[in-house]
Order: sequence, then structure tokens, then C-alpha cells
Amino acid sequence: QSHHIYALESGLSADPSMIWKIPDGRNLSIISNSDAHSGEKIGREANVFDTNIDYYSIIEAIKSKDPSKFLYTIEFYPEEGKYHYDGHRLCDISLSPEDSKKYNEICPRCGKPLTIGVLNRVEKLSNGDCFKNNIPFKKIVPLKEIIAECVGVVGVNSKSVQKEYDKLINSFKSEFNILLNISLDNIEDKIIRDGIKRVRSGELNIAPGFDGEYGKVSIFSEVKKTQKVSQKILF
Ligand SMILES: [Zn+2]
Repeated sequence: QSHHIYALESGLSADPSMIWKIPDGRNLSIISNSDAHSGEKIGREANVFDTNIDYYSIIEAIKSKDPSKFLYTIEFYPEEGKYHYDGHRLCDISLSPEDSKKYNEICPRCGKPLTIGVLNRVEKLSNGDCFKNNIPFKKIVPLKEIIAECVGVVGVNSKSVQKEYDKLINSFKSEFNILLNISLDNIEDKIIRDGIKRVRSGELNIAPGFDGEYGKVSIFSEVKKTQKVSQKILF
């Protein structure tokens, strides 16, 4: 491992607790960037610092892993990322690392090697130890996805979602503020209030992403191939 590398970026399909399992990942700061391919996705993952906003202060916070300066990272639920599980998108095959092993990592439908996901790779690189870094993290689901499920539409780009989204942003300034900080009693709509509450406490089901297919979040109902996720803020 190079002494000139201080940080690694966890990607959408992994969170710090997965990287902490890899010996090479433990000494590094873990940062989370947007990986945005469109303007709206800027800040879907983020790093939260309490420093001066300049290069030297931020790089020092990253290098030192000082939790009073590098406060936490904001993460997708890693199951939502496109490469969490193993699988074949066109064969509609999605497998946990455990199940994938049963098939020797060969697709049971087409007979070709599966696209191996991040969870499987982490398990292979792990030496079984559990370890926690200094910097905690919080997991979120994008607000528009929460609203879409609450108002009962499929797409996040529908007019009803946008209307509700604008209303909330006008009242509470930013998506992060709504998802992470505000007292939920301030939100009028009971279903949206419950939706955000469930995301904060990790009471949701996610069909993990695989082979380029995003995972599917379900806040109020089961989705196929569900996986329970427990949310804690990890210190
Ligand atoms: Zn296949």
C-alpha cells in the first residue's frame, strides 16, 4: 500500500462498514463522493467537515481522520448501488455471495461467469476481523424516492413527486436537512413523515442491485428478494 494514499472512495455499492473488513482499507480515510452523472445527483453521497473551506484544511482533516474535523460521511444504502450482489442483468439472476458460491459463480441460466458484486469481493478480501474506523457514517435514501413511494407513483420524475419535493425544500431549505436533521413533527404529511422516519431508522427492504441494475428500495412493503437492513450510526 502506497504511503502517498490517504483516502479511498467507497462507491455507491459499498459503505464504510464493508471496507473496514478489508485489511488494506483500515488505515485509510473513507470518503464518499457523489459520482454524479447529472446535476441533480450532486451530493447523493457526501463528506461532512467542520473545517475552514480550503484545500489545506480539508486535506488535513482527511489525513488525520480527526472526528472533530471530519464529522461523518453520507452514504447510499449500499444495496441500492448497481453492483452490490452477484448476477446477470439480462438473465434476471441476482445472487448473494453465499448463493453465488453454490453455483461456483456461474449463471444458472446462461452458463457464463456471473458479474461479481462488491459484497462478494469484500468477503474475499476480508480476514474476518471486525474493525471500526474513527469516522462514522449515516445512510440515506434520496428524498424523491421516498416521496414517490409515499404518493404511490413509480417514477421519481413525476409531477406529484416534484410538487411535494419543492414544498419540503421551500420549508426546510435542503434535502440533507430534511433527511438528517429536522424534527419530523414539522412535516405535515403523515405518510411522508413515516417514510423519512423509516429511512432514518433503517426499517426498509431493499432488493440489492446487481450487474448494473440499481437496487430497489421499498419503504412500506416487501420487495422480491428482500433483505432486511439495520441502520445504526456507527462510531
Ligand atoms: Zn446469465
